[in-house]
Amino acid sequence: MINRARGTRDILHPQSALYQKIRAISFSLLNANNYQQIILPTYEYQQTFSSLGESSDVVHKEMFTFPDRKGRSLALRPEGTMGVVRAVCQNKLANDQHFLKLYYWANMFRYERPQRGRYREFWQLGVELINAQGVRADFELLQLAKLLLEKVGVTDFSFSINYLGDEQTRERYKVLLQQSLQGKLDLLCEDCTRRYEKNPLRIMDCEECNQLEELPSYHTVLQATDVAYLANITSLLDNMQFTYVLDQKIVRGLDYYTGIVFEVKLTNRKRTLLGGGRYDTLFSKFTNGARRLPAVGFALGVDRLVDFLEETALTKSNDNRIDLLLLALDEKADCQLFTLKEQLLKLESALSLEVNLNYLNKKKTFELINTYNPQFVLTIGTKELNSSSFTLKRTSDRREFLITEKNAAALINEIIKSE
Ligand code: AMP
Repeated sequence: MINRARGTRDILHPQSALYQKIRAISFSLLNANNYQQIILPTYEYQQTFSSLGESSDVVHKEMFTFPDRKGRSLALRPEGTMGVVRAVCQNKLANDQHFLKLYYWANMFRYERPQRGRYREFWQLGVELINAQGVRADFELLQLAKLLLEKVGVTDFSFSINYLGDEQTRERYKVLLQQSLQGKLDLLCEDCTRRYEKNPLRIMDCEECNQLEELPSYHTVLQATDVAYLANITSLLDNMQFTYVLDQKIVRGLDYYTGIVFEVKLTNRKRTLLGGGRYDTLFSKFTNGARRLPAVGFALGVDRLVDFLEETALTKSNDNRIDLLLLALDEKADCQLFTLKEQLLKLESALSLEVNLNYLNKKKTFELINTYNPQFVLTIGTKELNSSSFTLKRTSDRREFLITEKNAAALINEIIKSE
């Protein structure tokens, strides 16, 4: 037997139902906020991702790359923002006046060491607000992230926020950081020794090395305009009673962030659930200066959210209970069974239902009621065929509702929906 590839998973029911639920809740919230879904290609030319920074771990060692038949190098997407940037530019989506609100729900691929909460194929919900600048845009995203988690049923989470300033500020901090660690490289782990030269900011992401006392405070390199911005956004957050902590260690693993950056962790969990921030120079870098669009976005790790929801039993066990079980007791009832089923499914908000597909004896057929535990059962046997009427039974108290065949579907739907 051949097993699945390392780092991938088969997401089975009822876990898959949780993915569906999160997807439905987030799509509905985002659509209500006028965001539009973008469905991105699963692979892009590898170069698309080079603006993430050659020194970033994602580009440096985590990408799944492969040549096409003409020798061009392709990569399975390791994240969504670069695909969005490429798509916005290629389709000429944003114009000068209007901001663009996009979201994606997609599987990402990173060659990481697999462990619980870290997979080689994982799912992200990403939200990008493009061509919008300033406190209001940043706050909209933070508020959306918070609402999203609350709507899914998570309350125990915390936001950490930092402000990176512009590229010069980042550069100043990199130099300061390198200076402060000069001659002390033996304090760093193997990964961070490599990062020291090329991507020293990532040292701040390392759980081991970011505890070092030598690390200088980020706020010493901020300019007056950065400090003023930080004061404005924190004042809005405070007035909105938005709970957060300022954490100078948050720099985020990807190289493209400028301005605000943020992360959400679940209480008592080590790993980050959601991360994001502003990336005002990414469009310019991607197009060699041809397009300059300020933007802010975040990505939620859906798998980590699902793991958490499962562990904390925030999902009701009867979430997946079906509304109606239709049982045909005779082969002659097949036509009636499927007619009724079709009529029910054609109604605007369809009930969830199941039919008995195997030809079993009466006793075994009725055992299906225990298997499916539906809210209602409707049987079609010779009696029903002769009288052209059905009996709908409520399983909780065995109450019966007589349904005449005329308008049967509408009537059944009405009774079940009124529960
Ligand atoms: P990033 O794109 O690295 O900013 O990650 C955003 C979110 O995606 C993280 O906060 C995680 O929840 C999730 N994530 C990132 N990498 C993985 C992975 N290898 N496996 C599962 N979830 C991940």
